[in-house]
Amino acid sequence: MFVADCLQVNQEGHLCVEQRDVLELAAKYGTPLYVMSETQIRKNCRLYQDSLKRFYDGNGLALYASKAFCCKEICRIASDEEMGLDVVSGGELYTAVSAGFPSERIYFHGNNKTASELVAALEYGVGTIVVDNLEELEMLDRLAAAKNICQEIMLRVKPGVDAHTHNFIRTGQIDSKFGFALETGEAMAAVKKAVSCPHIILTGLHCHIGSQIFDTEPFLLTARIMVGFLAQIRKQVGCELRKLNLGGGFGIQYTPDQDPPAYEAYMKRVSTVIHETCSLLDFPTPFILMEPGRSIVGPAGITLYTVGAVKEIPGVRTYVSVDGGMTDNPRYALYQSEYQIMNAGLATQEKTMRVTLAGHCCESGDLIGENLPVQHLEKGDIVAVLSTGAYNYSMASHYNRMPNPPVIMVKADQDRVIVRRETWEDLVRMDV
Ligand SMILES: *Cc1c(COP(=O)(O)O)cnc(C)c1O
Repeated sequence: MFVADCLQVNQEGHLCVEQRDVLELAAKYGTPLYVMSETQIRKNCRLYQDSLKRFYDGNGLALYASKAFCCKEICRIASDEEMGLDVVSGGELYTAVSAGFPSERIYFHGNNKTASELVAALEYGVGTIVVDNLEELEMLDRLAAAKNICQEIMLRVKPGVDAHTHNFIRTGQIDSKFGFALETGEAMAAVKKAVSCPHIILTGLHCHIGSQIFDTEPFLLTARIMVGFLAQIRKQVGCELRKLNLGGGFGIQYTPDQDPPAYEAYMKRVSTVIHETCSLLDFPTPFILMEPGRSIVGPAGITLYTVGAVKEIPGVRTYVSVDGGMTDNPRYALYQSEYQIMNAGLATQEKTMRVTLAGHCCESGDLIGENLPVQHLEKGDIVAVLSTGAYNYSMASHYNRMPNPPVIMVKADQDRVIVRRETWEDLVRMDV
């Protein structure tokens, strides 16, 4: 019935996150409200760590891609679960460091890191910088030299696999702003350049083929291509790179009809592919890194809203307006993402209505979804949007000067604020 184990229904028929009735949470903290399950997040982290142990002799590390949901507490949880961490900006890096995340387990991504971001990364002792382009490589070598540091890096490679097509394709991904293309020789040139930089230590290669991917074939093909490239580098450059970062992108279930593959099954297959390719090419099995973001936090979060105006336009549609919208969840406005919704007080009842869930911004495109099946809904009801743990809070904006909702973390029957609610006063804090 539900898209995540952390969602339950109690005897009153109310939706619960773990053992907390969400109607009580809405009453306690107000709406809109993000609610997350700590148990689910930890379980998802362990799924990655455990499958690396089971199927790859533990010769790898799962990094939590913090852009999916970044705040200090999630960094603490990821650290406690012994995950590594991906950051893609100085702000995410600062958040992680502020939370005490061990900097040697941080991987710093981004296609246009600024000099000040790189300096911060060097000063914080970031373990690995994932270099995206030659300008960055040169700048980093210079900045590291000035600090008398030798910085470990990986190079971001475009393996030429586009996972976002129905029948994924192998070429045509040269058109991406991220990384060095393999097929043009750009990636090989970058490897040669990197090994010649005195203050750079090239440890391996990185790739990331997309997000919300259900098909495991593109991942397997990517692994094969990347191992092949490692062997080619040994032949042409004479160095044996030992680390391979396979990126994130594992899909999650947003609606009941979606059926993402089990992660363990994927890990088992990818492990086989790497071992086979390595033995074929007589290359040592690399240390692998995985970078799940969405699949760690997405299913662990929901958003609660209070229903306001209900407008039935006969023969057209019914608009149900809520007290949040594109400012706390821009994903429908950005890419028509699908969600499952429910009346949190009538969680076990049949879904008898079809509604367009609208936000309260001054923008017609401010919708959470259209034609969504839901139980009876009326003014004052609490509506829950499921699977909003990833790319919701982290993509929130202040359009129309809407303050951002707080994030509540639930563990068993306990709840706590991990990000407090913004106030109108917070909104004018930067204004001069
Ligand atoms: C976004 C991103 C991820 C995480 O992707 P998910 O789809 O959330 O798993 C991992 N690595 C890189 C480089 C990314 O840009």
